[in-house]
Amino acid sequence: MTNPDRSMTPDDKLHLLDLRYLRMATIWSENSYCRRRKVGALIVKDKMIISDGYNGTPAGFENVCEDEHGDTRPYVLHAEANAITKVARSNNSSSGATLYVTTSPCMECSKLIIQAGIRRVVYSELYRIHDGLDLLERAGVETVHAPLPDPGCETSGL
Ligand SMILES: [Zn+2]
Repeated sequence: MTNPDRSMTPDDKLHLLDLRYLRMATIWSENSYCRRRKVGALIVKDKMIISDGYNGTPAGFENVCEDEHGDTRPYVLHAEANAITKVARSNNSSSGATLYVTTSPCMECSKLIIQAGIRRVVYSELYRIHDGLDLLERAGVETVHAPLPDPGCETSGL
């Protein structure tokens, strides 16, 4: 008889954990009132979720992300930026943390990720523009593409 847990390598366990946090980030993205794209992010350090975020307008602004033409308003904060700035208001530090985000980060968020000391970024959906990921890799931040299995798939083990 094989015990599936014991036969798992540390890499398998990490991948499973990555997928679980990404699923949580996906659920968190449902908080977003943006209509064009809903993005969720979590910051995890030492197996603790120290922050979370979703894309939306700054505090005090009306909860509408798009203008009358359906374009995203320039002051909308991305999920990563909201998660990182939430850490800044807490007693936690994002240094050495892992960021989980449903869509790969853009250039602006990647700059914040580097400056926040985040060492690892795990994302489920690859955005069509890759310049943010390229910047992260140049800065030595580990990037991991972990597509989520089809939610209808019952053999995923999740
Ligand atoms: Zn961004």
